Amino acid sequence: MADNIRLEVVTPEKIVVSEAAQIVMSPGSEGEFGVLDGHTPFLTTLKTGMIRYKDSTGAERAVFVSGGFAEALPDRVTVLAESAERRKDINVDRAKAALARAEDRIGKSLSDNEIDVVRAKAALLRAMTRLSVVQTR
Ligand code: ATP
Repeated sequence: MADNIRLEVVTPEKIVVSEAAQIVMSPGSEGEFGVLDGHTPFLTTLKTGMIRYKDSTGAERAVFVSGGFAEALPDRVTVLAESAERRKDINVDRAKAALARAEDRIGKSLSDNEIDVVRAKAALLRAMTRLSVVQTR
């Protein structure tokens, strides 16, 4: 079996994940990618989405990530992101409130400028993605 790789997920505020993983799946801008031990190094930006990985015991973990990029080296994956939370740390009520706020802003967008709509859509995507991460088993 392949050795574990090191997974680090870091935001400006905190270290969200720092542990060994058997496999890491990440939402790359060019599509979902998986990293196992010994792959070719690469660097990519990430979409707002979900990082999934198997920890050293084989348990499946899910992490919300937004505004990030990933550096994948043969034995490690480092993700730097604007925001990230482990599934268990996602506050569902906060995400639902953010979703409602964003929907409201998009609904009123006829009178607003385009930048606000882009921001509201990005906030909507973050909220929906957080809620979908919570629903993964
Ligand atoms: P909100 O409008 O609720 O702040 P947001 O999508 O604008 O949501 P972000 O800018 O992505 O929030 O994140 C700001 C900080 O708040 C980050 O530290 C992020 O981890 C945290 N955060 C945001 N939403 C949640 C949530 N639902 N549960 C846990 N932490 C959250």
